[in-house]
Amino acid sequence: MESRTTLPATTWTPDVSKLPKRDVWQAMRRGLRCRCPNCGEGKIFRAFLKVADNCSVCGQDLSGHRADDLPAYLVIVIVGHIVVPIALWIETNYSPPVALQLAIYLPVTLFSSLLLLQPIKGAVVGLQWALRMHGFDETRPENEEEGTIAKLNVTTLK
Ligand SMILES: [Zn+2]
Repeated sequence: MESRTTLPATTWTPDVSKLPKRDVWQAMRRGLRCRCPNCGEGKIFRAFLKVADNCSVCGQDLSGHRADDLPAYLVIVIVGHIVVPIALWIETNYSPPVALQLAIYLPVTLFSSLLLLQPIKGAVVGLQWALRMHGFDETRPENEEEGTIAKLNVTTLK
């Protein structure tokens, strides 16, 4: 038995060539300050990690972001690359008691992660807005669902 998969002839691709370019770094800096990537004035969050649906100043629709797990991943990478080398260096040179090390590293890791999570998420939303990713792409057709794989036509030959 042999099976064959055929993709549809036409697929939708974003056309951003006619739209004005957005400054990626400026949008990410504004996001880092937890401000709207469009105007830099309005707040981007309505709660700790809940992105507001619209900017309160310029009205920019912010609901189209898909930050998902990226901010948490980036925070783990950043905090891990700071805390682990320091812990290794202190252990190698001073080897203090384990209880003392845990009493320092665990709270430092926890609080630096909580401190970084919101600005990093803001920067990710800013990046997605500047690059017109996901829901920030105005040219996307209404019926095109994010993450939908084009319908596959699977035929089985006997
Ligand atoms: Zn705004």
